[in-house]
Amino acid sequence: MSADASKYVIAPPPQAAIRVKGSDKLFPVRRIWCVGRNYIEHIREMGQDERAPPFFFAKPADAIVHDGGVVPYPPLTKDMHHEVEMVVALKSGGSDIKPEKANDCVWGYGVGIDLTRRDLQIASREIKRPWEIGKAFDASAPCGALVPTSEIGHPAKGRIALKVNGAVKQEGDLNQMIWNVPETIWKLSEMVELAAGDIIMTGTPAGVGALVPGDKVECEIEGVGTLTVTIGKPKA
Ligand code: MN
Repeated sequence: MSADASKYVIAPPPQAAIRVKGSDKLFPVRRIWCVGRNYIEHIREMGQDERAPPFFFAKPADAIVHDGGVVPYPPLTKDMHHEVEMVVALKSGGSDIKPEKANDCVWGYGVGIDLTRRDLQIASREIKRPWEIGKAFDASAPCGALVPTSEIGHPAKGRIALKVNGAVKQEGDLNQMIWNVPETIWKLSEMVELAAGDIIMTGTPAGVGALVPGDKVECEIEGVGTLTVTIGKPKA
């Protein structure tokens, strides 16, 4: 046991991380924050208020699944949905970060999927209970390799799309976000103090739908990258 591990009563859990494109290094994940309802067409398909301010929910850091990975079909649901989203990875943080300073906190960007047990999310909503059981389950946050801002800058437009078994299901443009990335960082940092290692999933365009075991899910954001995962059988 290392000197550090000896401080703990059990072995510390492994550090959650996301791969970095073209590198052996990893981006360590502290927390995963997600924006709810950030593209107008998705708000319409979910039948929600188009004028509401942004709201946030979280997933555990260890819900990350790497590019090329398998997501075991989760328990208790009959309606797991895909939501392709741009991922923002922070290298620094703070409280009340104004939009004009927010990009300075970003290390890089990637492609993620906010997997959702839609039936459980809606059931929780209807009885005014928290969303975790619908959103924060194991393997609910696939995330492709991150690309640093030094290579791609701060993408504010570009096609974001998701295919299931080769058929396009979701398609939109980053410029359709209701709250752009700097505004999202600003609003979230009013609620919590952000820090290096936090990532933000920035909301999904229209076209969300159910996945079943065996599905191959391919995502792409123009100028950012790609992510492919397969939906596996339920974990035995
Ligand atoms: Mn989402």
